[in-house]
Amino acid sequence: GSKFYDVVVLGAGAAGMMCAIEAGKRGRSVAIVDHSPSAGDKIRISGGGRCNFTNINASAKNFISKNPRFAISALSRYTQRDFIALVERYGIAYHEKTLGQLFCDGSAKQIIEMLVAEMLRHGVELRLGTEIKRVEHRVDGGFRVALSTGDVVCKSLVIATGGKSIPKMGATGFGYEIASQFGLKLVETRPGLVPLTFDPATLARLEPLSGIAVDAVAQHGKTRFAEAMLFTHRGLSGPAILQISSYWREGDEITLSMLPGIDVFATLKAAKAERGKQALQTVLATLLPKRLAQLIAEAEQGPANLADFSDKALRRVEAATNAWRVKPLGSEGYRTAEVTLGGVDTDELDPKTMAAKAVPGLHFIGEVVDVTGWLGGYNFQWAWSSGWVAGQAV
Ligand code: FAD
Repeated sequence: GSKFYDVVVLGAGAAGMMCAIEAGKRGRSVAIVDHSPSAGDKIRISGGGRCNFTNINASAKNFISKNPRFAISALSRYTQRDFIALVERYGIAYHEKTLGQLFCDGSAKQIIEMLVAEMLRHGVELRLGTEIKRVEHRVDGGFRVALSTGDVVCKSLVIATGGKSIPKMGATGFGYEIASQFGLKLVETRPGLVPLTFDPATLARLEPLSGIAVDAVAQHGKTRFAEAMLFTHRGLSGPAILQISSYWREGDEITLSMLPGIDVFATLKAAKAERGKQALQTVLATLLPKRLAQLIAEAEQGPANLADFSDKALRRVEAATNAWRVKPLGSEGYRTAEVTLGGVDTDELDPKTMAAKAVPGLHFIGEVVDVTGWLGGYNFQWAWSSGWVAGQAV
């Protein structure tokens, strides 16, 4: 026969584990299933191995979704302060790195160990290294899940299998397939928090810049991020670019400011008056990395001395520096994307329980849902918050 549980959670990642813990606390019998032999694999590699587990300033404003209000409920019921309290209860040392981002002092493994300990403390059964073959809706409203280790039957089924990012780490489109099987709408998925690439001609021109990092403002429409930017041999990366990549669509331009907060025209004008015999490149190199200064100066092909530059030419240099418009060719895709945008349409879900409105007992949490956070600990906070609210409802 099949084993019965009140709750079966598919996916032992951040969201699934949080949900299993909370359901277990409420006395539910819970099994959590994952094809990976270990739980929380993405947590292990997150934040460069230190896990940026939340952000002090997290609110619904830091998320992208077709319905930007959907996340408000879960985020306000289980907040970053709640997760921080859990981390502190386990004596895990942490620090704020920048912009409210909290990281473990030691290792991301401490977060996994904490979540696994909580699951075991609350009687959750771990079924790792287990393939999910099929999900069926039963006539009694419950679900039957065919696993490589035998069938299980449950009242509540929670889909927490994440997005498509990093297929090498076991990411699959499984959650989207289940949503489709039950007739739920999906918002088209695409890679987010991902480096952007250039066409070969632009790449060849920018080749000398590979490896250079600058503090920049990356802008797409009205959305802007002031963070570091990195030139790579494939295009652009670094936090500012990853952030803007989640807003960028193929064919769009982005605008980059590499001397944000500096009035470049006024600065060049002053330099022209005071050090007119210097070359543009020399003056720019006092503000920017040398190779970048050189490239901008060469592109202008101006006179030898700054003194001979017209205001119009100085304005062009200003634009090249602080309003550089580029059209990326594409992104590096799911291979390196930190998240997947889109997913299960929030119209289909009750924000208080994460249950499908049309399919009582079927819940979707974490990255598989069309709620995607910025870079900076927001994606884990969504996993904790959405997992927690589902855990109260199953
Ligand atoms: P996941 O954590 O992806 O868990 C899904 C689980 O389901 C996995 O264990 C997987 O094995 C399992 N699964 C999938 N398909 C199947 C299937 N068919 N059968 C059985 N099991 C299946 N976010 C932050 O907030 N801070 C960070 O520092 C951070 N760093 C990151 C670094 C990298 C390199 C990457 C890729 C992402 C990072 N993220 C970070 C994003 C964050 O990891 C995810 O948003 C988060 O893990 C999503 O949680 P989840 O539980 O929904 O899905």
